[in-house]
Amino acid sequence: MIIKDISKNFGGIKALNSVSLEIKKAKITAIIGPNGSGKTTLFNIISGIVAPDNGNIMFQEKDITKMQDFKIANLGISRTFQDVKLFKNLSVKDHIKISLTKDYESMIKSALKKDKNIDKEIESILKPFNLNEKLNDYVSDLSYGQRKLLDLAVAVSKNHSVLMLDEPVAGVNPKLRELISVILKNLSKKGETIILIEHDINFIMSLADYIYVLNFGSVIAHGPPKKIKNNKKVLEAYLGE
Ligand code: ADP
Ligand code: MG
Repeated sequence: MIIKDISKNFGGIKALNSVSLEIKKAKITAIIGPNGSGKTTLFNIISGIVAPDNGNIMFQEKDITKMQDFKIANLGISRTFQDVKLFKNLSVKDHIKISLTKDYESMIKSALKKDKNIDKEIESILKPFNLNEKLNDYVSDLSYGQRKLLDLAVAVSKNHSVLMLDEPVAGVNPKLRELISVILKNLSKKGETIILIEHDINFIMSLADYIYVLNFGSVIAHGPPKKIKNNKKVLEAYLGE
């Protein structure tokens, strides 16, 4: 994916200022930066929820800049949201079942069908997420951390070629953070293309192949983790928060 010269103003706020980045296949690309630096806005633009003022996004040789959000999702861009979006009155299992189906009709059929094969598939999907014991629990009965895990599991189980994760470890405890880190490493080993938004630099260092740092809507540094770690501009941006 090539993101080129993306700009976005909200009223007087320059949320993004000519941001360009390249997302390489089968790598973890991290977008980090202080709160309000434009990370989520960039995700919203990539996924077609927000229209940019300028710039364009190429994905699989297509210009997706003006494409509708559901069409972009159908191209295989699967994302999570900073504020987890799940159905309170559906179970863990139902969420995965729905995300495995490709269209509305098969969604209804699969909801009505009791299929042992689907159950097996769901169990194997949920295994790395430690959610199999919660299979029949409603989302309303899950802890915050379990919801973050389920949200990630839903994004992973959708048919996709790129995973976009907006702060998957925000607010979770250290143990769960480690679990999510392992899950992401394993996905990457399998060849997944991952774009990871994170506020916490330390979490990213051992995970990312390449890092872009946003501050006030501009890319102030980019490079492999080693190069970013001691970058003066990056440290200053975080200290000034
Ligand atoms: P981050 O995810 O890095 O914390 P955001 O992309 O959420 O940052 O926000 C960047 C800036 O754009 C912030 O100043 C935020 O208040 C503003 N912003 C984001 N979305 C909107 C919106 N829909 N309307 C108005 N301002 C917005
Ligand atoms: Mg954000």
